[in-house]
Amino acid sequence: MNLKYLNRIELDQRIKSLSAKERDLLHEVLLTIKEIDSRRTYLDMGFGSLFDYLVKGVGYSEGSAQRRIDAARLIRELPQVAEKIQSGELKLNQISLVQKASREVWKSQSKQVTAEQKMEVLESLIAKGHSESHQQVTAFFDLPAVQNSYQKVQADESVRVEFTLSKEAFAKVKIAQELLSHSLPTQDIGDFLEYLVDKVIKQKLGPANNSAEKHMAESGKAATEAREQEQKNQEDFRNQAAKIVPSEQITATMAAKSAPSPKDIRTLKAQQKCCQFKDPVTGNKCQSRWLLQVDHQQSRWAGGKHDLPNLQLLCASHNKLKYKKETGIRYL
Ligand SMILES: [Zn+2]
Repeated sequence: MNLKYLNRIELDQRIKSLSAKERDLLHEVLLTIKEIDSRRTYLDMGFGSLFDYLVKGVGYSEGSAQRRIDAARLIRELPQVAEKIQSGELKLNQISLVQKASREVWKSQSKQVTAEQKMEVLESLIAKGHSESHQQVTAFFDLPAVQNSYQKVQADESVRVEFTLSKEAFAKVKIAQELLSHSLPTQDIGDFLEYLVDKVIKQKLGPANNSAEKHMAESGKAATEAREQEQKNQEDFRNQAAKIVPSEQITATMAAKSAPSPKDIRTLKAQQKCCQFKDPVTGNKCQSRWLLQVDHQQSRWAGGKHDLPNLQLLCASHNKLKYKKETGIRYL
């Protein structure tokens, strides 16, 4: 069909009909994502998360992937929402606003937003634009409006930076700060960030550019003393990590870490750097760097050795998948 020969009435009819088909297709896409999510089929295909799969395996942009995940999960809670998306009454961005706000409520107030509350606020968003919906959702859940990062150069040329961390990310920052409490006595996040940045610069460019050393010297603590303390802290770190990582994963990690030599673990980390899980069919490798754990390719109980050739790095999701497969526990 040559679109040039359509008059404006015909073009209008055509775009409306295509748009309705697009929403029908979206409906099918969301139901399919919901099924993939509940069965976690992406793990076997070498992806560490549904988000990773939709971006790297399917080809969605990060924003599109997140909006579709938000909607698919909301449909699981509130099946009637599927029809409202299909009819065009509700848009994906509005659903994402509600899901994001619900996560914020959970983070800041430790309260679970109920399906009824979500439905109530969604009903109020019908036929509203994005910024009006944003205001409505923020007011409904009584959330502070600031979400985005912000930075501003101040009079003395220092830079004021504000950003939001997830509950998990913040917990990790606190653990890292405690681990460094000897070499970096202040609890200031700015100092902490500078310390990390110095480390990265030193690692990438060599010691000449390192000001963290100076900082440590100024703090008056002997470097060896600090190192001993940090070693001691490693133990506490594992105990604390148990609070944010499900216990079975930690058990697996501890069991693995207790035996292979620290030298082998260092070599392994230097060689592999990321999750080695591979889909046997497509050969797709996960490569996630999220909560990497040392795994015995042949498990200890099956006679696997602690030697380097039997060790591999796996992300938390794939270590868990392997564990569940080996022990015959299935996702419910
Ligand atoms: Zn992985």
